Formats: sequence, C-alpha cells, structure tokens
Amino acid sequence: MDLNLKSKLAVITGGSVGIGLAVAKGFAAEGARILITARGRDRVEAEVAQIRANYGVETRGVAADVATAEGCNAVIAAAAAMGGADILINNAGTGSNETIAEADDAKWQYYWDLHVMAAVRLGRGLVPQMKAHGGGVILHNASICAVQPLWYEPIYNTTKAALMMFSKTLANEVVGDNIRVNTVNPGLVLTPDWIKTARQIAGEDGWEAHLQGVANEAGGMKRFATPEELANFFVFMSSDKASYSTGSTYFVDGGWLRTV
Ligand code: NDP
Repeated sequence: MDLNLKSKLAVITGGSVGIGLAVAKGFAAEGARILITARGRDRVEAEVAQIRANYGVETRGVAADVATAEGCNAVIAAAAAMGGADILINNAGTGSNETIAEADDAKWQYYWDLHVMAAVRLGRGLVPQMKAHGGGVILHNASICAVQPLWYEPIYNTTKAALMMFSKTLANEVVGDNIRVNTVNPGLVLTPDWIKTARQIAGEDGWEAHLQGVANEAGGMKRFATPEELANFFVFMSSDKASYSTGSTYFVDGGWLRTV
C-alpha cells in the first residue's frame, strides 16, 4: 500500500524514545522527512543520526521543551527552515502521580503546559505552514486515561481529556483548510520507561511478571503493545488512506476500554 508520504515533513514531539521514536521511524520507512524534538539533546542527536543512517531521509532534531512558548517557537522555526510541516504528531507527554488533595498549582500548570498548551502553540504555529502546502494532518497522542481515569494520576487524566477536546475543536476550525485532526488513545505500550519503573518496583527477576500483572489487570488482550504497533496506526492515520477521517478519537488499547 503506497501511503503517499514521500518527502512530506513530519514533526514529532517527544520523538527521541518510546512511541514518538517508533512513529518517527515509521514515517522514515515511508520516505517522509523527519523533525524530532525532545528536551535531552544527546538522545535527540543520537536518534537523528540513526534515522538518517538507517532510512536515508532528511532528518533533523531540535532540543526544546515544548511545555514552554520558547520551546514551541524553536520547533516552529525549525519546521519552517525545512520548508514547512505537513504532519504534526503531538506526542510529548508523561504520566503523573498524586492526589487532588495534595498536588499544588505548579504541578497542574506544568501538565497543562505540556499536554495542552504545547498542542495549542504548535497548532497555531504549524497550521499556517500546512495551509501553504494545501493541507496537512495533526494527530494528538492522548491516552485511554482521557476517558477511563487511573486513580493515581488525576492530573494526567484531566489534561489528556482536555487535549482530546482541543483536538476536536481544532479539527472543526481547520476542516476547510484540508487539514485533518484526530486523537489516538493508546492503552499499555511497552516503552523503556515502563521497563525501568518495573525493574525498580520488582527487581531484575520480577519485572516481567510485574508488567504481566499490569496487563492482566487491564484485561482485553492482556499484553502491552509494542511502540511499533502504535506507530503503524499513527502513520496510517497521517496518510491519504485515512482521508475521510477528522475530528475523531481512536482507541488503540487491546480491548482495555470498558465502555463503548
Ligand atoms: P516516553 O517517556 O518513552 O517518551 C517521552 C518523550 O517525550 C521523550 O522523547 C521525552 O524526551 C519527550 N518529552 C517529555 N517531556 C517533554 C517536554 N517537556 N518537551 C519536549 N519533549 C518532552 O513516553 P511514551 O512513549 O511512553 O509516551 C508518549 C506519549 O504517549 C505520551 O504523551 C504518553 O502520555 C502517551 N501514552 C503512553 C502510553 C504508554 O503506555 N507508554 C499509554 C498511553 C498514552 P525528553 O525527556 O528528553 O524531553
């Protein structure tokens, strides 16, 4: 299946590891040009070099914090320097751990800036670049937690739910510009961070059983997705083959969602 992504510029936030890195490789395998961003410069530079070497596509990286206006501006400028974005994957994000009773305003603000304002600012800055190309695609990586909350991360649940609504609203605003906007809600995805945390909790001999316990509790397929399984979905949704889809949310959660 030709996804018609050759030479398109895909901007992927949080593209230096985990789901974002798998998405970047998925686009590179289709011949797209890549701009990845994350805070850690070393990891960004290392993965840019790897993608270039393995896929031979134009690839650049920006070390930037997308939870700030300056960081988002740096990404927008880097995309402009590459000729303008065709695809934006708002993926940078992270889990939280708190109670509503104890979390202070600064923590709420940080997650709002990371999960919502990054999408607002990058959308505002990159939509004009897409318009200049005659259209584009924006995907928001939220979470199943946007609709099915986990008890230990109220700030994550709330800000990811807000991201879903932002995505729907942006879709309405740019539908006439041939820009499609959708949300993907993953379930359990086996990234290095999950493995690191499981090792800390259960040790070298117990981490795999610990993760299996997490998957069993989720139900459905009772396993984690690989980052590549998510990446395939993101790449398809960014392609012309998904041309009638906008303003929607898609769950890629192995059956964990307990409602229709
Ligand atoms: P990882 O922790 O593996 O990677 C996160 C990426 O985002 C890294 O590249 C990180 O790099 C970057 N990042 C984090 N904060 C910032 C910031 N302020 N500015 C710029 N970049 C940042 O995450 P996952 O791959 O697990 O998750 C990716 C997305 O998917 C997240 O939004 C997450 O909420 C969502 N998700 C993940 C699930 C899972 O099971 N893994 C399930 C459901 C949703 P650096 O630290 O160097 O900045």
